Amino acid sequence: MAGEPQDDCLFCKIVAGHIPATIVRETETTVAFRDINPQAPTHVLVIPKAHHRDAAALAEADPTLTADVLRETKAVAEEDKLESYRVVFNTGPGAGQTVFHVHAHVLGGRGMQWPPG
Ligand code: 5GP
Ligand code: ZN
Repeated sequence: MAGEPQDDCLFCKIVAGHIPATIVRETETTVAFRDINPQAPTHVLVIPKAHHRDAAALAEADPTLTADVLRETKAVAEEDKLESYRVVFNTGPGAGQTVFHVHAHVLGGRGMQWPPG
């Protein structure tokens, strides 16, 4: 069921504390932790604690939780004193999504190119 923890989901395991992560922020509904393979000086993943496959599924299922995730990206950027930063939701395998528990990448601390690859 949408929102329920999935046994085979890496990020549900991080939420449950079964896999360690460097957690930078936690709220009632979200967790933010450093990416294991950082692509910028700041590379933090913000996830809802509830399992949703991707950004589209989250937006469809729970607008309030969607807003919680977006608000936390701002909080992460503030904590790392980022004036400019990028928020990315890879959505679907063709866009580079590899973990199917929705996550916002917060990237900053270096110059960014546009368009992205
Ligand atoms: P995606 O490719 O789905 O947009 O992003 C998945 C992200 O999760 C990647 O940036 C990858 O480095 C990160 N990641 C994968 N496994 C782990 C893990 O066990 N711990 C942490 N902290 N990040 C992970
Ligand atoms: Zn999950």
